[in-house]
Amino acid sequence: MNDISEMARAAGVVGSGGAGFPTHVKLAGEAEIYIVNGAECEPLLKVDQQLSKKYGAQLVRGLELAMQAVGAREGIIALKAKYEEAIATITPLLKSNMRIHILKDVYPAGDEVITIWMATGRRVPPAGLPKDVGVAVNNVLTLINLARAVDEGTPVTTRTLTITGAVVKPITVTVPIGVTLREVLAMAGGVTVADPAFIDGGPMMGKLLTSLDAPVTKTTGGLIALPASHILIRRRTQSERSVLEMARTTCEQCLLCTELCPRHIIGHELPPHLIVRSVNYHHFGQPSTLLSALTCSECAICEAWACPVDISPMRLNQMLKVQLRKENVRYTGPLHPADPMAEHRLVPVSRLIAKLAISEYNRKAPLDETLYQPARVVLPLHQHVGAPSIPCVSVGDTVQAGQLLAEIAPDALGARIHASISGRVESATEYAITLTA
Ligand code: SF4
Ligand code: SF4
Repeated sequence: MNDISEMARAAGVVGSGGAGFPTHVKLAGEAEIYIVNGAECEPLLKVDQQLSKKYGAQLVRGLELAMQAVGAREGIIALKAKYEEAIATITPLLKSNMRIHILKDVYPAGDEVITIWMATGRRVPPAGLPKDVGVAVNNVLTLINLARAVDEGTPVTTRTLTITGAVVKPITVTVPIGVTLREVLAMAGGVTVADPAFIDGGPMMGKLLTSLDAPVTKTTGGLIALPASHILIRRRTQSERSVLEMARTTCEQCLLCTELCPRHIIGHELPPHLIVRSVNYHHFGQPSTLLSALTCSECAICEAWACPVDISPMRLNQMLKVQLRKENVRYTGPLHPADPMAEHRLVPVSRLIAKLAISEYNRKAPLDETLYQPARVVLPLHQHVGAPSIPCVSVGDTVQAGQLLAEIAPDALGARIHASISGRVESATEYAITLTA
């Protein structure tokens, strides 16, 4: 492990884009090209575009450090043209071995496999990783956190997220990790509908939230309030049985889900229409067809954009993944030629917003970093890919903000957890550490 990777490990830096992969592991590897994924293509979320502008210097510094760690010869900051202010801030700061790549305003430009393809022309093979094509990718906040970790010794104790949808005042805030989503919802003035339901993340890939008492974690990018009757909520509450029945009774094998699947069009086998057919008729065709469900990114294009009769091939893929992972099988198919029309098959975000019926919620959500001091925080020990962290404090201990609370489990993939406020340890279980101010 190099020094930069070690400092990322010490500070508990993880991928902020959603997955929470421990950054120190990525920085301990090698790559020719390092990409900053600043696409933020999920409609309504306004985090990375505002952080890129406000903390452009730290972003470029983070990229410089990451490139140094993995020995990259080129750094690429992938941004959409509409992030004009961020581009204007960053451009004069770029080093000679860095460039900005302007992404089209399409979904899912921020799926790292698609970002890599758009920014470099390289195609990650199905079930492969960016490192297979000599590339490493991190999102904006991850690299800002890396710069803070290395240059200031600052651990990750805050998270920036957008609170939007059916709220009084959409807003993007930076808060101590561990505050409740109920508290951040109040920062947006509360909801404007009588029967709200909530999505944790973006409208395409975010998960239905079951409790506003859940804490903000290192990977929480957004909180979206919607009426419970909204199509995006209804899709997320549809039972597996109903999804299967819909697929069985209404699929017309029109192929649109496959023709528009972002993974399929860049040359992955993944054919959602054949998966639907296989599930419906127990007709398995090529043995690899069902296995290819393992390579689905769950971008929701097939469900929310492509299918004319409201079937969700993505949900079928999710069900198959659970089954196939139990059986411990892997997908090993080849990379096929890309669809010559691939570039034109990705979805313009403006049209996606209309299709998702969220135009009325597509409002500004300005960044407000006023310091919020909660009375209590709950810090989950599993905010990252890998094993839960192991507490190294006890009930009754007094801790300072930034102090180490939980260490990476021995010989495991994981990330450290630090105190996001100063206070006393109220509880320390195998799941979470609770601090009171
Ligand atoms: S969710 Fe649908 S469109 Fe997206 S990768 Fe999976 S099968 Fe393809
Ligand atoms: S888009 Fe819908 S109807 Fe067409 S093949 Fe796919 S699941 Fe079936």
